[in-house]
Amino acid sequence: MKYSQAFIPTLKETPSDADTISLKLMLRAGLIRKLSSGIYEWLPLGLRVLKNVEQIIREEMNKIGGQELLLPTILPKELWEETGRWNLYGKELCRIKDRSGREFCLGPTHEEIITDIVRKDVRSYKQLPLMLYQFQSKFRDEIRPRFGVMRAKEFYMKDAYSFHASEEDAERYYKIVFDAYSKICEKCGFNFRAVEATTGSIGGSFSHEFMVLADTGEEEIVSCICGYGANVEKAECIKREVGSWKPEVEKPLEEVHTPDMKTVDEVGKFLNEKPEKFIKTLIYLADGKPVIVLVRGDCEINEEKLKSHLNANELLLADGNTVEKITGVPIGFLGSVNFRLPTSDFRLIADYSVENIINGISGANKKDYHLKNINIGRDYKPTEIADIRKVKKGALCPRCKKHELKFSRGIEVGHTFKLGTKYSKAMNATFLDEKGKQNFFIMGCYGIGVSRIVAAAIEQSNDESGIIWNRALAPYQAIIIPVSYEGKIKDVCDTIYEKLSQKYDVLLDDRDGRAGVKFKDADLLGIPVRITVSEKTLKENKVEIKYRSKKTAELVDIEKILDKMPKNYL
Ligand code: ATP
Ligand code: MG
Repeated sequence: MKYSQAFIPTLKETPSDADTISLKLMLRAGLIRKLSSGIYEWLPLGLRVLKNVEQIIREEMNKIGGQELLLPTILPKELWEETGRWNLYGKELCRIKDRSGREFCLGPTHEEIITDIVRKDVRSYKQLPLMLYQFQSKFRDEIRPRFGVMRAKEFYMKDAYSFHASEEDAERYYKIVFDAYSKICEKCGFNFRAVEATTGSIGGSFSHEFMVLADTGEEEIVSCICGYGANVEKAECIKREVGSWKPEVEKPLEEVHTPDMKTVDEVGKFLNEKPEKFIKTLIYLADGKPVIVLVRGDCEINEEKLKSHLNANELLLADGNTVEKITGVPIGFLGSVNFRLPTSDFRLIADYSVENIINGISGANKKDYHLKNINIGRDYKPTEIADIRKVKKGALCPRCKKHELKFSRGIEVGHTFKLGTKYSKAMNATFLDEKGKQNFFIMGCYGIGVSRIVAAAIEQSNDESGIIWNRALAPYQAIIIPVSYEGKIKDVCDTIYEKLSQKYDVLLDDRDGRAGVKFKDADLLGIPVRITVSEKTLKENKVEIKYRSKKTAELVDIEKILDKMPKNYL
């Protein structure tokens, strides 16, 4: 492509509302433009990168037996009602009506649609396993679209769905997809980690997220040198984690007057006790029903873990008014001893951290009083003890129990789910097994944010001059820069351009103007190889080659340029 003809509207100024380095560079390099909040246009240069990512993914999906299809973006309400997600999905689901009043949604993910296809046309175990995938624009009415295409309302995704006759086969295949996803991340040049994750609104039995490590990433992850890794939303805690536990004799309960002291901090100072001695008592509403939750004073509840322990669709921390209405006790003075709820079948869920507290402190269930010397078993009995707290800095790895967990931030680019029969049961999708018996399909689903990958790649690889593309993602692999596009220089540039174009996507900067400006643009666009031709280099029958990722340039014989081009990514 000749630069003078290319539609690459670069910007000199950094757009003021760009909140991440990748968004700044995508706008400045003319990859994308914003149409509306969370809605972006992909310009030619950006689309080239997006298509490169798509091709990397397509190759890996085909290698593992995936078959590509394309599903509609506008989806009828009826299918979403079969799984209950029409109501459950909440405000992220953009609902629309056609002229006759029929309801539809803009597809945010396609489990229902694919399950419908398979239940109609797959009858026998002989047709399994089956893996279908597509590339498509998804729509989610994100509450806070941000970071450009990283968290957009409309974004480009590869979603894949697999169908199996048995749990074992679904798990075997899950590992294969996991490896394919790792390969995709490697080819994109990512420094990444695959971590255990929660299943969210997609559901299923287990899942992994593929995280590109970046300080600006929205997700926090923990990892251990033993190989364990998890999103903090999911990260397990071991029972005895923090605090030194001296053996203590259980003392008798004691009530203390604590006027207006509601927080662990306030009461801790007053009694001269550490937060580790406190049993925090909280009321949550799980699908509207109150449950009591206990956690040690220095820890916090992990609502994702609690939600999955309760198997709840919606979990809300009750506010002061609600707490008082339900319990008759003002917030700040709740406690686990002699707890009263209107119903007798309430659940009192203690986190493991509480189990170890001897002579603990908590509210006395009456205004302005706390209790000292509370002991589990003697003074209160939880209905269940579970791992429901947030992992803390300094925590030991829950797997090897030897090393301290490392905290880092990441951008989630892919997510794999073992779904099991969640969708096939809800939608009555069955096949006949070897014995002629009807069974529900066992499913997996696997998403990759193609557009998010583009932003993540820039976030991980840039410098003060612009983007530094990995050669597999680059919109053009090389840019030829004539110091002035005329005479002998022009002839040589045209010849090199012809030759390289047979194998590579090449940009020839045929524009008028100073070489310095062209160099700046080449750096901003992040093209991996820059070939400069000037009278000086031609004196020796050479050109200057500079790799975007390196500081130094070298002079190369014209005939040897091809040898200097990066090999393909394999
Ligand atoms: P997140 O936690 O970031 O909202 P998710 O768990 O909702 O992601 P999935 O439903 O698993 O995402 O979707 C698969 C992939 O699609 C994600 O791994 C991510 O790369 C991409 N993705 C999801 N939401 C967005 C978005 N709003 N903008 C861009 N890409 C997205
Ligand atoms: Mg989401």
